[in-house]
Amino acid sequence: MISLSEASEIVIGGCSSLAPIEVDCRQMSGRVVAQDVVAKESVPPFANTAVDGFAVRAQDVDKPGVELEVLGVIGAGHVAAYQIGAGQSARIMTGASMPRGADAVVMIEDATVLSATRVRCNKPAKVGDAVREVGEDVRAGDVVFKAGEVINSAGIGVLAGINARKVSSYPRLRVAMLSTGDELVIDGSTLRPGQIRESNLTMLASMIEDTGCEIINLGIVDDDEERLEAALREVATRCDAIVTSGGVGQGDFDIVKIVLSRIAEMHWMQMAIKPAKPFAFGKLKTSDSRVVPIFGLPGNPVSSMISFELLARPALRKMMGHTVDLRRPTVRAIVDAPMKRKQDGKVHFMRVFGRFGEDGRLHVRDTGPQGSHQLAATAQANGLAFVPDGQGLAAGAEVEVMLLG
Ligand code: AMP
Ligand code: MG
Repeated sequence: MISLSEASEIVIGGCSSLAPIEVDCRQMSGRVVAQDVVAKESVPPFANTAVDGFAVRAQDVDKPGVELEVLGVIGAGHVAAYQIGAGQSARIMTGASMPRGADAVVMIEDATVLSATRVRCNKPAKVGDAVREVGEDVRAGDVVFKAGEVINSAGIGVLAGINARKVSSYPRLRVAMLSTGDELVIDGSTLRPGQIRESNLTMLASMIEDTGCEIINLGIVDDDEERLEAALREVATRCDAIVTSGGVGQGDFDIVKIVLSRIAEMHWMQMAIKPAKPFAFGKLKTSDSRVVPIFGLPGNPVSSMISFELLARPALRKMMGHTVDLRRPTVRAIVDAPMKRKQDGKVHFMRVFGRFGEDGRLHVRDTGPQGSHQLAATAQANGLAFVPDGQGLAAGAEVEVMLLG
């Protein structure tokens, strides 16, 4: 058996990012910037008012009760043709360009409108009051995003604000997936004796989509080596990675194992973790000389889910340009109810539900039966507790927890 970190070295270390492409800024959510983004424009592009009110010369409004002439009304998107002189002002709306001569805005709440052409300012003004200067948010020439940074929704807004319509980023991965197993029924038909419903592909499709990838779902492959080899070679020409479910255990005569061993360079691993002991990783050379990573997940649904989380997801993220936070974050949590386990030389990944207590700390308890075939308890979990080898953890002990979703 190898440790999870040795397996990570093989799997995550064995993947590298795809070549960058130009991506529409609207498609950048969750994606990684491949090259520094330098602003070509300032935000805001002109000095404007932060409030509805009156644009004034601060020197005129040096005490409460000053009355000013109102030259006109300036709405957002419009520019005054006139200049504000001594004793003058203009009614101005949030976002409108400051008229020449004015250097402060008295908000409407601090003014009394006397007539269409006269206003009294009830508070003194200082230079710059309620004025948003050019480039206060982003200055032309600034690096707004560095290579390696991830764009969120606000980031998309920033890109739109500086007119960065195309961004150098990484392509969304196209991930092909398939499952093996004569026992699996995927089409909703009545189960015959010995059959079970397919659940992994459906679950993994959702996880792969959550990772930001597109899916090519080949479904359940039938028991024919030649057809499987042809299908794998064909799909490899139009995908960036392949995920298989099932048939990676020891002494398994699954045809996926037989075919992959023959056509790809594979590592068949046994990890010192529970669940998800078996895992396979390899590379398939395509006819056009690309190398497509293959992630062979175990068939037991919980094992499939956990090994995707621990190994495949970080590797897929790395291929999409992520360099930090490849895995989900972990925190130290308090164990609220004993977590029993047997000593077996493995780290156990227990599915837990965690909630923050009044002490400000995360408190966790397991969500129920922890068998690798018992997905229902996993569906209730929002964390994975790393329970080290030994007899388990007593209530009140600390445990490292990976926060899921
Ligand atoms: P395997 O890894 O193929 O030896 O399968 C291990 C266990 O997982 C067996 O009980 C299978 O029936 C079950 N299994 C395999 N593939 C799937 C799947 N796609 N959906 C649900 N269960 C599966
Ligand atoms: Mg099987």
